[in-house]
Amino acid sequence: QTPVPSDIDIAMAQTPKHLAAMCKEIGLNENEYELYGAHKAKVNLNVLKRLDHRKDGKYVVVTGITPTPLGEGKSTTTIGLAQALGAHLGKAVYACVRQPSQGPTFGIKGGAAGGGYSQVIPMDEFNLHLTGDIHAVTAANNLLAAAIDARMFHENTQSNKGLFNRLCPVKKGVRTFAPVMVKRLQKLGISKTDPSDLTDEEIEQFARLDIDPSTITWQRVMDTNDRFLRKITVGENPTEKGQVRQTGFDIAVASEVMAVLALTTGLQDMRQRLGNMVVASSKSGDPITADDIGIGGALTVLMKDAIKPTLMQTLEGTPVLVHAGPFANIASGNSSILADKIALKLAGTDDGDESMEPGYCLTEAGFGADMGMEKFFDMKCRTSGLVPDCVVLVATVRALKMHGGAPDVVAGKPLPDAYTEENLDFLEKGCSNLVRHIENAKKFGVSVVVAVNRFSSDTDAEMDLIRKASLAAGADDAVGCDHWMRGGLGAVELGNSVIDACANKKDKQFKFLYDVDQPIEHKIETICKEIYRADGIELSDLAKEKMAVYTRQGFGNLPICMAKTQYSFSHDPQLKGAPTGFVVPIRDIRASAGAGFLYPLVGAMQTMPGLPTRPCFYDVDLDQDGNVTGLF
Ligand code: ADP
Repeated sequence: QTPVPSDIDIAMAQTPKHLAAMCKEIGLNENEYELYGAHKAKVNLNVLKRLDHRKDGKYVVVTGITPTPLGEGKSTTTIGLAQALGAHLGKAVYACVRQPSQGPTFGIKGGAAGGGYSQVIPMDEFNLHLTGDIHAVTAANNLLAAAIDARMFHENTQSNKGLFNRLCPVKKGVRTFAPVMVKRLQKLGISKTDPSDLTDEEIEQFARLDIDPSTITWQRVMDTNDRFLRKITVGENPTEKGQVRQTGFDIAVASEVMAVLALTTGLQDMRQRLGNMVVASSKSGDPITADDIGIGGALTVLMKDAIKPTLMQTLEGTPVLVHAGPFANIASGNSSILADKIALKLAGTDDGDESMEPGYCLTEAGFGADMGMEKFFDMKCRTSGLVPDCVVLVATVRALKMHGGAPDVVAGKPLPDAYTEENLDFLEKGCSNLVRHIENAKKFGVSVVVAVNRFSSDTDAEMDLIRKASLAAGADDAVGCDHWMRGGLGAVELGNSVIDACANKKDKQFKFLYDVDQPIEHKIETICKEIYRADGIELSDLAKEKMAVYTRQGFGNLPICMAKTQYSFSHDPQLKGAPTGFVVPIRDIRASAGAGFLYPLVGAMQTMPGLPTRPCFYDVDLDQDGNVTGLF
């Protein structure tokens, strides 16, 4: 239909099929899913056990060039390509996408269900509470935050013996240990299992965590853009006996608990990771973990349903797995390993069964490829052990023109003429950005298909130019697609290219960019030189200090998660195209020890967004029939 109606109007005009029918269609047994209403279902992890023998389907990551602030259509292309492969080319295909945060949905950016005729539906359910995973993350995060302050309060007001008597009370004449406490004893190198055997010195070591309040990194979270909570003072009531301290709130999806959800490989693994999260250092410099506070088990219980991906559908009735939504700068920015694993098994083949052909798992990596794709390979695939087959690199004419020197694209303002008319000069210059992303993708030894997400003003000459530049840079293929306007039909050519690229294994051997066992500095430098093409890095004194601390604490061999802008290959969002001759300043390095990575900070990172003067929530309402209106 032209003009293309609004996202919510398109989404509302389609009647989704009942999820029970979808579950049957994709071969889930009744004990392998739980319906949440008619249009969502949680997929149980037991399906992985049943299908363990299967050979995985093809693994495709959808990423993009350096974007404009408007977004270049990675989500829309992930969904459009899934519709093409599933509804038009007869393949088993699963789109794996992140769950959006409610902050941006009501703030500036709007939802993240794709757009036009390529969307996840029902899009209001997708964009809002879904099946409550973000609420579970919030609950777990804040239970730990409360536990940290309460523990410090009790330690400050009690003697060692008093603390010990309360932590290990005598019941029916026997002094008790909670099972999680044994882990702390092991960490302290005390091999006793009966608390009555502890010496006074051991009691002090065990009972007193001695948290240094100035080292606490754990903040409270909520899923709302609430800038006034960025810095707060807690403990003001007289009952807290003057133990005030400054802390703050982050948006829930910036929590390490969310990062754990995205990178975990199963329930026991999640238990380990949540327990290993480091929240502060002791006054003697040892890392204090969630398990030291005794809370790893409780956090896992709060997250036990959130670990199951949520099954939904596209506008054309193909399956979508929605799971996790970690930040793309201070975390991996990729949807979950578990959703991908389930998709790859459901799309997999049984050995010796000639009637089965491999299906596809399309998973989206947030931000530009210098961030999202690099993290997909070096963090996500390293953790999961899954081997990718193909990169789909989404590009737009408008972003490439911007990289070629056309005036800045500003959200909320009309596009300058250079964008709405043919302009091969800007476009040709801007292809330098695309070429560098293609070269980078090839460094990992996988196929690359460029998907040019077409806008109505793009011309055929512009498409030709991008295609030639892509092929010259070594892409397997480059095709225009208009799934936003036409749904899956508009991405059939792209679908065929992806099928060919996945089948073509000639000269391809997946490899990581760096070896995790190399020193921290070397790993950061490798990413900055090889992917961003910087001349080098400059470490602040703080970053050097942190590097020494993490190496001493045993976190030196974790992969690196760069927290950098997505608007340039460099650290400066103004440097468009394919900049060279810059040095990346590493301001600080932090650890998500439980999730399993170190994150160097390049510039300031905002972990609690604010609301603009005119937020998206102005448009959101219910109509007479109770339908949601105004979401996009
Ligand atoms: P990303 O995932 O890369 O951030 P999205 O897929 O969310 O980008 O798309 C950003 C916005 O642009 C969405 O509002 C989407 O509806 C719109 N959009 C995407 N592709 C097109 C297109 N070809 N024509 C018009 N609008 C589009």
